[in-house]
Amino acid sequence: MDITQNDKEYIANTYARFPVEIVSGKGAVLKDSNGKEYIDLGAGIAVNIFGAADEEWKNAVTHQLSQIQHTSNLYYTEPCAELAKLLCEKTGMKKVFFSNSGAEANECAIKAARKYAFDKYGDESHSNIITLKNSFHGRTIATLKATGQDSFHTDFGPFPDGFLYAEANNLEDVKRIADENNCIAVMMEMVQGEGGVCPLSEEFVNGVAELAKEKDMLIIVDEVQTGNGRTGELYAYMHYGLKPDIVTTAKGLGGGLPIGATMFAESTKDVLVPGSHGSTFGGNPVCCAGALNILGRIDDKLLSEVKAKSEYIFSQLSGAKNVKSVSGMGLMIGIETQKPAKEIVGACIEKGVLVLTAKTKIRLLPPLNIGMDELEKAISVLKEIIES
Ligand SMILES: *Cc1c(COP(=O)(O)O)cnc(C)c1O
Repeated sequence: MDITQNDKEYIANTYARFPVEIVSGKGAVLKDSNGKEYIDLGAGIAVNIFGAADEEWKNAVTHQLSQIQHTSNLYYTEPCAELAKLLCEKTGMKKVFFSNSGAEANECAIKAARKYAFDKYGDESHSNIITLKNSFHGRTIATLKATGQDSFHTDFGPFPDGFLYAEANNLEDVKRIADENNCIAVMMEMVQGEGGVCPLSEEFVNGVAELAKEKDMLIIVDEVQTGNGRTGELYAYMHYGLKPDIVTTAKGLGGGLPIGATMFAESTKDVLVPGSHGSTFGGNPVCCAGALNILGRIDDKLLSEVKAKSEYIFSQLSGAKNVKSVSGMGLMIGIETQKPAKEIVGACIEKGVLVLTAKTKIRLLPPLNIGMDELEKAISVLKEIIES
């Protein structure tokens, strides 16, 4: 059995994997094919928010698995309906569409925004969506174009029109674009994840909300990475007191199973009608049963632990030797270092700690329930490597 060799020969060459073969895990500790253990500060890119092989989640998932694994969307299932209800109760949103990934959740948001405008104005001249420079919204053709980074707009054209890019935290730029074009929505991440863990300022978000009201633009918040407790609130927009029209999420929602959700506020809840959107796997009962367990456990106690762990990481790394800056919110943290981030990731792997990168930064997205002892150990390893 040669995992690495088979992978290199048979898997499409899209990932620059690190030389680690993960075979199992428990909580925030993962084990490789040599039996070596790692403290995981990446959680499968913000996905395993209760770590690996969590007992409660596993029970919820396997129970559903033993009942029925899939039904299609021609029929009703309990986990799907319950999850939608809980999402709405916890957010005040009114309706949910389920898909299988972040990109699909955003595709649905884009379709809904366009249909909202088409229903209202009756033509396609109102179709522009403002997104932010340095954003990331997914890998499908439309979400690549929605992503506000030129490097994502090559090789796969022609791309769909209707996306205009404003500078993040520059309200004047958003205003200028909204004045010069018919815009139907602004789509943004509250903390730009792939772009380098850069939070939006409160002033900017408030300004965009006001402008959106004035210009009849919808607010779409991409909470694919920031959502589900990651930043210390259930959804990051809640830090800002924002009232979005559409919220998308995925990554952490299923606790490790693929699920995407697009949530609609009162303003947009009736835009999608029978036939206007769909998904074969969307709302899969096993994924929904897992997500229902996860979402039910993101309570005030967990969120205050996220905040405390966040403060600990900031206090350890802000101002440390060779650290240029620490940014982020909750357990979504970016660290700008003197040394190249890739080098630090490699040294951490050697020492049994898994960290991520975002652009030129080190990025931390640990399981939200990581033990304080594990966190202290991993951060001291990381700090030593950064300082050396
Ligand atoms: C990861 C991510 C996506 C894409 O999610 P997939 O599940 O990989 O399709 C979209 N938006 C943001 C903010 C993300 O972090």
